[in-house]
Amino acid sequence: MPTIFTKIINREIPADIVYENEKILAFKDINPAAPVHVLIVPKKEIPTVNDIQKEDKELIGEMYLAVGEIAKKLGIAEDGYRVITNCNYNGGQEVFHLHFHLLGGKKLGKLVE
Ligand code: 5GP
Repeated sequence: MPTIFTKIINREIPADIVYENEKILAFKDINPAAPVHVLIVPKKEIPTVNDIQKEDKELIGEMYLAVGEIAKKLGIAEDGYRVITNCNYNGGQEVFHLHFHLLGGKKLGKLVE
């Protein structure tokens, strides 16, 4: 099922894009939880972590490579950052298109409240 992220990927709605390659798009979160809050999204529609298939192994690796590049580009690589993926209800997932949250730009608080 297409989500709002597919609309962003297809340029049907605007977003502040910070990185793009053939398989991945990254853009600033509309409601940032930290000074740097970027969403790293595969262009392939994968709803949740539960839906990742063996054939997606390389894609997931490339998403982490993109994290590293974006962190460097945005100047948070050395100070550090956090990468989070929420899954389903207990994880607090709201958009059912797989994404990494890249959070940084300050000392982050506890992982789970
Ligand atoms: P989730 O809760 O699914 O892990 O995270 C979804 C994230 O997408 C939230 O942090 C939310 O602020 C962000 N988001 C939702 N709709 C939009 C949108 O239209 N544009 C952007 N840039 N971010 C969005």
